[in-house]
Amino acid sequence: MFAQLNLNERLLRALEENAFVEPTPVQQEAIPVILAGRDLRATAQTGSGKTAAFLLPVLHQLLALEEASAAPATRALVLVPTRELARQILEEVERFARYTFLQSAMVIGGEGFKEQSALLRKIPDILIATPGRLLEHIQAGSMLAGEVRWLILDEADRMLDMGFAEDMQAIISACVNRQQTLLFSATTGGRALREIAQSVLRNPEHLMLNPVSQLGETTRQQIITAESPTHKERLLAWLLANENYRKAMVFTNTRAQADQLYGRLRAGDYRVFVLHGEKDQQERKQALERFSQGGERVLIATDVAARGLDIEGVDMVVNFDMPRSGDEYVHRIGRTGRGGEDGLAISLITHLDWNLMSSIQRYLKQEFEKRVLPGLKGNYHGPKKVKSSGKAAGTKKKKSANKNAKPARKPARRPAASPLLVSEDGHAPLRRRAPARER
Ligand code: AMP
Repeated sequence: MFAQLNLNERLLRALEENAFVEPTPVQQEAIPVILAGRDLRATAQTGSGKTAAFLLPVLHQLLALEEASAAPATRALVLVPTRELARQILEEVERFARYTFLQSAMVIGGEGFKEQSALLRKIPDILIATPGRLLEHIQAGSMLAGEVRWLILDEADRMLDMGFAEDMQAIISACVNRQQTLLFSATTGGRALREIAQSVLRNPEHLMLNPVSQLGETTRQQIITAESPTHKERLLAWLLANENYRKAMVFTNTRAQADQLYGRLRAGDYRVFVLHGEKDQQERKQALERFSQGGERVLIATDVAARGLDIEGVDMVVNFDMPRSGDEYVHRIGRTGRGGEDGLAISLITHLDWNLMSSIQRYLKQEFEKRVLPGLKGNYHGPKKVKSSGKAAGTKKKKSANKNAKPARKPARRPAASPLLVSEDGHAPLRRRAPARER
């Protein structure tokens, strides 16, 4: 029960009103640690209740200051990778702070700088921000980072993936007087995340919730082989028309692919929406609202645009393009099968996706179920031979033993965009970590 967590009465009242009765595991673990003043590094997915896990104890501490009549200042800063996530967090803050005098604000890219400066002049107690825009405000002097006591880096792994490492570092360094830093990530991340954690956190408590291995217990994971991108489109159209689902998310690796699919599906009379970083703020908001409310049942999205969104009722995820890393796969698939509900995750695999798919299988220590759609069996069913790793066995020819044989003609030099790195549509780099800065 939340009542046992020693939170301020005014917060408890708001929680009760919002039917928050039982804390989720991440809240149960993180709230006492944060209330005790410890730095925290937590690995927890969207959907685990991580937002309340950091907001409630921070709001509690802000209230204690308010009650001690401290002078107004922006003392809590939540740094997030995307605008949508910022918006969602602001909504949570407003819900929880309803019975308090705490003020909150948000500064994100794509909205008026001047209006944001005016908001900052009102000295909100808690600020939610995306790195690029916040740094501009710090540099312009409209945000006084030196006042920040609580710094929360939410989805830190994603911020790094999106190329915000430098901005993050600059912001962290500007928060010279912070007393507590909380770092949340959906995955354990790589070297960059470890380095940030080491340099920023002081003697942190480390909480590991919903690790990768717990993923997909209620989500069936399938692959369907495809001979070409057009074949993938036919497979997707079949799935959207015939599969039993409430809401589906279709992921592509690039904006161009997302737009192309959107056009094709719309032309085929499918009610779909598309969400990516080139959409303006209003379009993104509308797309999300209509999808959340069930107006459109299918959302096509790039990873960056979809990151951190908490949309209820998504029970089918289709990877039109295979994600570029195991962690990205986890993020995508983590949207289905929430709270023990059944989910379905389907990846469409051409010969260019195969090796990536098999490394993701190995990473997850899971084997995807292979599926064929009626009447849509193509000519590609996976590599003829596979290595023990599951990857396609090489097709390199052995060197000829006949010394007199003519040397094989050298293949023409490939252009810069090597086919090993670029998918058939010429857009999607298949490298493990491509910079994915999309704002
Ligand atoms: P998050 O992982 O923070 O994005 O939260 C996922 C969703 O669960 C949000 O809609 C929260 O409002 C909701 N939520 C978080 N904690 C609780 C709780 N203890 N009880 C009920 N709903 C919750």
